[in-house]
Amino acid sequence: MEGVIFERIRDVLKRISHAALRAGRSPDEVTLVAVTKGVSVEAINEALEAGLRVFGENRVQETLKKQKELVSKNIIWHMIGHLQRNKARQAVGLFDLIHSVDSLALSEAINRYAAAIDKTQRILIEVKLSPEPSKTGISKEHLPELISEVSGMPNLRLEGLMTMPPYSPEPEHSRPYYRELRGLAKEFGLKELSMGMSGDFEVAIEEGATMVRVGSAIFGGRR
Ligand SMILES: *Cc1c(COP(=O)(O)O)cnc(C)c1O
Repeated sequence: MEGVIFERIRDVLKRISHAALRAGRSPDEVTLVAVTKGVSVEAINEALEAGLRVFGENRVQETLKKQKELVSKNIIWHMIGHLQRNKARQAVGLFDLIHSVDSLALSEAINRYAAAIDKTQRILIEVKLSPEPSKTGISKEHLPELISEVSGMPNLRLEGLMTMPPYSPEPEHSRPYYRELRGLAKEFGLKELSMGMSGDFEVAIEEGATMVRVGSAIFGGRR
């Protein structure tokens, strides 16, 4: 029996494909990160059955709890939310990719804990391109310095950039932010671009996203 989550995933994957093809890209270049914050283990199991493997969470504690409850170990966890330094040790033990590195202090902590377990931690730097004061991420002005510092840390592998545009019901409003992030990644020779959410992932793919973080379009509105 196919449930509603199954159907939504099929729909999102189809829209990812179409957006990629429209932009002259291969759909394989885009990874769907299913955002499971606040989502039940049952719903995650349905997404696993539908073939998804990469899941994004924004809290270390919640991820640990779900990991214990989920039978499948065939899951790739991504940290997409703001990471506090005092959670860095646990995060390194849990996450394949951390999307949200935004300070020297945090990157030093991650590097240290990764070294302790002999891991090379894959990371993205979150860039704050939006003027909204509430948004996390490093400013464009401080980005070159952080990139050069992180590049010297032996247990970090910087793969790309992430950003969150200001909230808007109109997907086209995100486009300039995504275009700017692509320009920055190009400037610094970085490959991965984590950008695009339920409301605007097609625009993000047209602008070069390699990872889209989609929650509510798969799991329904957040409680
Ligand atoms: C919640 C969240 C998403 C997913 O948002 P939806 O609009 O539900 O797709 C993506 N990125 C981050 C950082 C989030 O916190």
